[in-house]
Amino acid sequence: MDLDGLGPISLRNFGNHLGQHPVSYAALRQVQRVQERMGGCVTLQFGDGPSGLAGEVGKAIDGSMEMDLYMLNRANLSAEGAASTFIHESSHYMRGARGFEIGTQVEEYMAFRREKLFELGRRPSFDERKAIWTDKILNDP
Ligand SMILES: [Zn+2]
Repeated sequence: MDLDGLGPISLRNFGNHLGQHPVSYAALRQVQRVQERMGGCVTLQFGDGPSGLAGEVGKAIDGSMEMDLYMLNRANLSAEGAASTFIHESSHYMRGARGFEIGTQVEEYMAFRREKLFELGRRPSFDERKAIWTDKILNDP
């Protein structure tokens, strides 16, 4: 594990990143509104996730949503990468709170589409959305 990679990802950098970009700020506010309404934790885990994923969202027994971000996953070793993971997971978090089944291909597509919006700073084009579906959903191992 390369701990040098943790340099830029101080919590302050991560927080600043979320606060400074319109897409991540909107995602942060959505998550906060869900938390105000029904509780639920966003936990930064300084370890690798059990699934190998960069982040996970699940529903607790009391119905609240929980998000774990695995900060030592290589996708999260920069503030921007961790923000991108947060934005992806915020889609699951928010839609799970609204009662949608979050483990579906459609939900995964929507989360990647939101991540792409952050990456590009604009809505992805038709071809870019098609590429998300093909690369991230259909051809995902
Ligand atoms: Zn996802």
